[in-house]
Amino acid sequence: MEYECPICQCAAISNPVGGRDILDIECLRCRKYIITGTAAAMLDGKSISMDDRLLLSMWMFENQGVELDSEHIKNFPIVDMPSLHERACNLIREFARRNPSMGDEVELDFVSKHIEPTATRISRDEYANLNPKDQEKVKALFEWMSISRCKNSSELIFLLVDYMTDDLGWLKDWTVTGVTISPSGWINLEEQK
Ligand SMILES: [Zn+2]
Repeated sequence: MEYECPICQCAAISNPVGGRDILDIECLRCRKYIITGTAAAMLDGKSISMDDRLLLSMWMFENQGVELDSEHIKNFPIVDMPSLHERACNLIREFARRNPSMGDEVELDFVSKHIEPTATRISRDEYANLNPKDQEKVKALFEWMSISRCKNSSELIFLLVDYMTDDLGWLKDWTVTGVTISPSGWINLEEQK
């Protein structure tokens, strides 16, 4: 990844676009989006807190395909932070969407060892220095952080292990590659419908 995302400053790719002054970005955290040159310059020049950048990144992740322009930056589209419980519900729904069979392991093949637990980003150089397998695992980590609206890996692990496994009992049988939704997790999914 040869670029850093103008929104969340994470490792990203900037695909060339002919004609217009826009950037076509593919970011580990925000995923794919288009941003105008003016908006990118505004984000660069503006002293925006990392918390606000992360909220914008979460909005971007859920609004794939939107072209981010200077109006968006002036009227910062900030998402509301859902409660811990809503985040757990979102995660388990996504697990069930990917693995609809009861008893199957949900693949959660991410690693957080290359990133500090409280870090919100990985730089272009740090990412480039990982081997391709670890790059995939770091990519998966950022995807799960975006799905669950977690700022960092410490929050994600707290949500998955302390809350969803230990407190709620929705997840069980952790392995190095994934986890299984427990019977009470499935009951909760049925009640969410
Ligand atoms: Zn980003």
